[in-house]
Amino acid sequence: MEQTITCINCPVGCRMTVSLSDTGEFLSVTGNTCPRGAKYAQQECTLPERMITAVIPVAGSETPLSVKTASPVPKKLISSVIDELARVQVSLPVTIGQIVLPDVLNTGVDIIATRSLS
Ligand code: SF4
Repeated sequence: MEQTITCINCPVGCRMTVSLSDTGEFLSVTGNTCPRGAKYAQQECTLPERMITAVIPVAGSETPLSVKTASPVPKKLISSVIDELARVQVSLPVTIGQIVLPDVLNTGVDIIATRSLS
């Protein structure tokens, strides 16, 4: 079977056609302009990942804290990560890059602050 996806690694946005076996195994890709597209296509069709961004409240601050995953996490975990973020308790001061939730859901990925608050 074939699947059409768009590479999101750069603004060119190559439209790629991915061939999968009947069991969903990645076979090949066409339409990518560079190797990054091929790597993305294989990842997207086997274990899709996403960066997650969010804002969370901070004790003692009227300004919420923007946070993100330090690297992509499996797409299927997005709602679970958001649930974990709802339980995080952060207090002032916060420094940009500070880990506010280490190893979220045992993924090996930290949630980090994307701004400082004091
Ligand atoms: S395949 Fe390469 S050139 Fe095309 S969108 Fe992806 S990164 Fe950009």
